[in-house]
Amino acid sequence: MKAFQYVRSTTAKSAIEALAKDPSAMFLAGGTNLVDLMKRGVTEPDKLIDISRLPYTKIEKESSGVRIGAMALNSQVADDKLIQEKWPLLSLALNAGASAQLRNKATVGGNMLQRTRCGYFYDTEMDCNKRQPGSGCGAKEGYNRMHAIFGTSEHCIAVHPSDMCIALAALDATVIVQGPKGERKIPFADFHRLPGDHPEKDNTLEKGELITAVTLPDSPYAKNVHYLKVRDRTSYAFALVSVAAALELDGKTIKSARLAMGGVAHKPWRLLEAEKALVGQTVSEATFQKAAEVAMTGAKGYEYNSFKLKLAPNSIVEALKIAAGLTA
Ligand code: SF4
Repeated sequence: MKAFQYVRSTTAKSAIEALAKDPSAMFLAGGTNLVDLMKRGVTEPDKLIDISRLPYTKIEKESSGVRIGAMALNSQVADDKLIQEKWPLLSLALNAGASAQLRNKATVGGNMLQRTRCGYFYDTEMDCNKRQPGSGCGAKEGYNRMHAIFGTSEHCIAVHPSDMCIALAALDATVIVQGPKGERKIPFADFHRLPGDHPEKDNTLEKGELITAVTLPDSPYAKNVHYLKVRDRTSYAFALVSVAAALELDGKTIKSARLAMGGVAHKPWRLLEAEKALVGQTVSEATFQKAAEVAMTGAKGYEYNSFKLKLAPNSIVEALKIAAGLTA
């Protein structure tokens, strides 16, 4: 691993100033992804600014929602009584991610910034536009079983790896950031980006900005929710496809719905048209199948991941059936 300097900041102001002084520096929180990237030579910062002691660990009820500090641990959020009661979809998604040990170390802010697990990105001998812009994409014609079926570009077909973020996308979260120009609020849908011509950019954070919190609005989705994660083994594996599903029901009628998918795109993939297709309909497998058909508009498979074109709609139907109580 390349040698690096280590400094610790205990205020957002000092962390932001330290980064402004040294543009090649990076923030370190739980380090559960960044340290792996450094060991493999994928990311080689000259300096790490440890922000894990910043006072952003609280989960606080606000007048119209909840504010989750960016340094709150994934396990802390998943186990929080308020989150479990009012936003159980987030708790389910968090507990589907990684392992207990990693959830005890990884922070909310770090989870949002984790990088794709595309094997070509981690292998510094391979072409990868995300790691080295302009070098090519090894996955496009290579082994692309884990890769995206929505929103790809000719430059990158990687997927976003987080489970937590799929629930945050479904629940209309807002990301609060502090930077050299002050505080900024970013709607969650605008935080992560599609690869386009710049797959090296995963998100819309500006230079020197630090995530301080995520907020969730009050939600009617406290009961009929499910996070379905389909993966190669039942623990410590990234999603082939995941679905965050939430329904607001009036008897058997769907008043409103939230749906997002993971493992299918470069960002959490919100299914707005499928949500609209569910509203006003009666809960049934046929209703959910129609919504899943709508959700798959524009999907495109590659040589090894075309199975996702069937797996994804089947997963949507299954997640909705479980959320609605049609199946256990
Ligand atoms: Fe790199 Fe993206 Fe291609 Fe993977 S899919 S090799 S991350 S450019």
